[in-house]
Amino acid sequence: MNALGRHILVEFYDCSPELMNDVIHIENSMVAAAETAGATVINSTFHHFSPYGVSGVVVIQESHLAIHTWPEYGYAAVDLFTCGDSVDPWVSYTYLKEAFQSGHGSSMELRRGQLSLLKRNDFNLETLRDSSAKTIEADGSITRDVWFTERDENIALSLKHTGNQLYKKDSEYQRVEIYETLAYGNMLTLDGMVMCTQKDEYVYHEMITHVPMLSNRSAKRALVIGGGDGGTVRELLRHEQLEEVTLVEIDELVIEACKLHLPETAVAFENPRLNLLIEDGIKYIKECDDEHYDLIIVDSADPVGPGEGLFTAAFYQEVYRCLAKDGVMITQSESPRFNSAVFVEIYDTYKKIFGQDKVYCYLAAIPTYPTGTWSFSYSAKGDARPLQFDAEAAAAFSKKEGLKYYNEEVHAAAFALPNFVKELLNTKPEHVTDEYSAEPINQ
Ligand code: SAM
Repeated sequence: MNALGRHILVEFYDCSPELMNDVIHIENSMVAAAETAGATVINSTFHHFSPYGVSGVVVIQESHLAIHTWPEYGYAAVDLFTCGDSVDPWVSYTYLKEAFQSGHGSSMELRRGQLSLLKRNDFNLETLRDSSAKTIEADGSITRDVWFTERDENIALSLKHTGNQLYKKDSEYQRVEIYETLAYGNMLTLDGMVMCTQKDEYVYHEMITHVPMLSNRSAKRALVIGGGDGGTVRELLRHEQLEEVTLVEIDELVIEACKLHLPETAVAFENPRLNLLIEDGIKYIKECDDEHYDLIIVDSADPVGPGEGLFTAAFYQEVYRCLAKDGVMITQSESPRFNSAVFVEIYDTYKKIFGQDKVYCYLAAIPTYPTGTWSFSYSAKGDARPLQFDAEAAAAFSKKEGLKYYNEEVHAAAFALPNFVKELLNTKPEHVTDEYSAEPINQ
């Protein structure tokens, strides 16, 4: 070859926008395109941008393949650069055209480093040899840097994963995905939002269940709305005094995905004491009998998609009706730090329904949730109070069950709120500012 390298500039048009936004598919295809052309892959780094678009590079022994996509145009700009003549970059071109379902592609090949224009420097190359140069892993494995990013307007959380998509299906309500993250184990996401991970799910599930159960030892009937990962009912079913535990989950694909890839949370689905219903919680609560439940836990996702209706006054009014005289409602109530406006609005609604002095907020540290500071609400219909609990019984329960987060001190401490949260809880929705909020406040 009369040049050091071959550089093909590629324009792929009429690609599937879906695929152009699928970081896993793109990373896998780019790595496979290099290997199919006979290249030796060293590592790959790919990033999924929000709201859409992917950028990435595969470093090969023979140089690199790079890509940036515009899903909104069904377009990908690709660079195929190989040095030497052991690898034919056109093989990668053909592979990718098919992998991206590109309607048509245009390309231009440049010969890089025309030898006739280059003068070889005659110095001792050994001085250049970098003994620390990273060599290909002995087992041929390549370091793949593929990141999942949950990005909101002002903040984002990125988690590195293996690049293997364990589960991905679209239900009529949402996209259900399971990623194999390196730091937090398998992770369930719905519509690109983190729901739970194997490594920190216990925080959320222990706090949403044991705080109400240890402060209301006479509870016999519990209802969970949402909670399709199974973690909340797993924790509830530790309480033997519960005679009835009902889970109403709208999307059976969430349960399917968790049974396959989050067995620790899904273990409760086999429990004979569980009454599992695949149904819309909003419809279920409307048809439920008055004063039927001692505890109702709203384990919903964020106030978007199928879960939007679970954040309305009408829904909470129905929950109130279905609670026994001394019943308690627990909800995941978002984060005071993440979106103060949503937080303030939620609590204002609870207080209007349950009463100003019957609504409590407690906090927990959940690393994979936006800002890491998450909150739960405790609303009492009758005289139950979250801090009137038997600390010895709570300590014994935490020990007997081998809990990882909840204990009698955490129970009490969770209600010790920082001043900015107390301030937000006493703020009217129309007066909330973004002083404490990561997300902008849309007045
Ligand atoms: N811990 C998570 C969080 O805070 O983001 C939530 C966990 S759980 C996976 C949320 C569940 O609520 C999802 O499985 C979703 O399908 C379910 N869900 C959403 N809307 C629902 C509705 N209207 N009725 C019943 N379940 C619903």
